[in-house]
Amino acid sequence: MDTYKVSTLFDVKKINIIEVEKKQPSGKQVLIKVDSCAICTLEQRVYNGVMKRYPFAGGHEAAGIVEAIGNQVKSVKPGDKVAVRLLNSCGECYYCRNGNENQCVVSFIAETHEGIGGPGGLSEYMMIDAENVYKMEPDVNLTYAALSEPLACCVHSVRKANIGLGDDVVVIGVGIMGAFHIQLAKLSGARVIACEVDNARLETAQKLGADIVINSSEMDAVAKIKELTEGRGADVVFCTVALSQIAESAVHMAGKIGKVIFYSSFHPDNPISISPNKIHSTEQIITGSVNPQRKDFLTATRLLSYHLIDVSMLISDIVPFAEIDRAFIEAVEPSSYRIIVKC
Ligand SMILES: [Zn+2]
Ligand SMILES: [Zn+2]
Repeated sequence: MDTYKVSTLFDVKKINIIEVEKKQPSGKQVLIKVDSCAICTLEQRVYNGVMKRYPFAGGHEAAGIVEAIGNQVKSVKPGDKVAVRLLNSCGECYYCRNGNENQCVVSFIAETHEGIGGPGGLSEYMMIDAENVYKMEPDVNLTYAALSEPLACCVHSVRKANIGLGDDVVVIGVGIMGAFHIQLAKLSGARVIACEVDNARLETAQKLGADIVINSSEMDAVAKIKELTEGRGADVVFCTVALSQIAESAVHMAGKIGKVIFYSSFHPDNPISISPNKIHSTEQIITGSVNPQRKDFLTATRLLSYHLIDVSMLISDIVPFAEIDRAFIEAVEPSSYRIIVKC
């Protein structure tokens, strides 16, 4: 029997490598030889025991090479470089049917290894339906292609903001998500102002194209943004930091008809105070962004294929599959960007 290795979390901080039978794809299935898989928050939560769902084959930010295809697959062929969409949607609920599949009522995780729960990107191979396989250009770096999923989340957020040429856009927080927002806002033609408390991250922001950087621990960021915009406030504010108090200042940074997007989830979810009369009179829009839609995923794979987004600075380490324990230890470090596992 031909087998391959799958890394599986069996308990808090306990990773086992299990052998799974390698089957041939049929119908619309695609067998992928995984090249790279990043460790995201979902995997870290299961690893730390914040989410206790064992056994769990983690890894939903993956890219690889098509090994074999079923007889009904049309979009890819063996040898193609691909990224995979592993956190998908049910296809049956109200939101999936009206084109808002990122709001799917079932949080749906693809099962890529028979009988094991979890997206399963941290493995040597995976079997996945062709509709969730996105072909990339032959010269794409697969280490970078693995970041298609987090980039797609940010593409969704930026799409919602509908940035105009020459707009003033504030990005609060320069973690990996803030870094993607900065680059996407630049590609959209905005003047980008990055706010952070960490100087090293502000330097990264500058390298990625931010026009102005503000260390919000050293000055009143709201006043500074008003000053930079002749007192108006920004056209768009993205909050990628999970603190309610920062979310409240994000609203104050926005000008009339400004849009505020709460990108990150908030833990703890402390309420903030908003003046309804101010919203009435300024016509500000306060919204959120969660998960990517299919078209966002497609856009993300094109942006990476065409080298329009630079992810080289957002990868803290590349770790071989055999040292997966080390990869998790590094990934849970708060200062790290993405850790990529070479499968
Ligand atoms: Zn992710
Ligand atoms: Zn659905």
